[in-house]
Amino acid sequence: MSTTKRIGILTSGGDAPGMNAAIRAVTRAAIYNGIRVKGIYRGYKGLVTGEIEEFTNHHVSNIVQRGGTILKTARCLEFKTPEGRKLAYDRLVEEGIDALVTIGGDGTLTGARIFAQEFNYPIIGLPGTIDNDLYGTDMTIGYDTALNTIMECVDKIRDTATSHERLFFIEVMGRDAGFLALNGAIASGAEAAIIPETSLEKDQLAEMIENGFRKSKNSSIVLVAESDVTGGAMGVAERVKKEYPQFDVRVSILGHLQRGGSPTAQDRILATRMGIAAIEALLDDQRNVMIGIKNDQITYVPFSQAIKKDKPINHELLNTLRVSSI
Ligand code: ADP
Repeated sequence: MSTTKRIGILTSGGDAPGMNAAIRAVTRAAIYNGIRVKGIYRGYKGLVTGEIEEFTNHHVSNIVQRGGTILKTARCLEFKTPEGRKLAYDRLVEEGIDALVTIGGDGTLTGARIFAQEFNYPIIGLPGTIDNDLYGTDMTIGYDTALNTIMECVDKIRDTATSHERLFFIEVMGRDAGFLALNGAIASGAEAAIIPETSLEKDQLAEMIENGFRKSKNSSIVLVAESDVTGGAMGVAERVKKEYPQFDVRVSILGHLQRGGSPTAQDRILATRMGIAAIEALLDDQRNVMIGIKNDQITYVPFSQAIKKDKPINHELLNTLRVSSI
């Protein structure tokens, strides 16, 4: 049986819709199980500087529907140094916090892994990122909301693309992962997606043009994942201007609006399940794992696996887009 008496909770790195639902669930599950909660503001930065507040049930009421994170988020370079992490550790001891729940992406979990090892300190991670690029979970918190936002934006861009008979390259987030671009393309009826996972295998742009896309259509929309590998929407559009000057090309970069908005039902439920699972994991003496949900079952994913950066794209989805966009 776990001896955890007080946990700290923080959100770190890129914000994602549903982080608040996760904070709420973690806090309530802790209180339900007799564990006290301290909210740590601005991610690892607040741990180093001591921006920490005792959380009650009241702190997390009326937030399940809110985008962003009430705990704020920040990037903290100091935490990347042994000295910075020692300060963070001293602060945890001083505050009487004997376990941490960290919500964030790849960087946040990397920091958690290093810290947990260095100080033999229990941490449970929750996957909070719109990119869906963490291994061991079917979905990350925020991904579904971002996908829905992309779909709504592309629907709007299609109206103007159709009227002017233009070829639009729309850049979406995802860091080095193509989940948002590929599933965004399927959901919005785009003609193609250019994603990093297949960029090295083949020339996706040439393939699209050769397949005669736009022949029977009066406009085309292609989603491009932001990435050095794809060159982003600007890079692809430049190439088209040079190699295929017959097309009337436009670029739209969706940017930070993909991070905002009220979380979808899917993200709220995912965050709530994962938040409660984080406390159950601690009670079960689990440590240094990320909570995932695979095939609708809660899983514990060791940090080292979650961040290994090779979450595969389901190749069936590539075919789905190809067939549905002829
Ligand atoms: P995300 O969690 O969204 O991937 P970042 O990559 O910015 O966002 O990481 C968030 C924070 O996690 C960083 O600002 C830093 O404090 C911490 N972090 C990231 N990588 C490391 C690392 N290698 N060592 C220690 N801390 C790290």
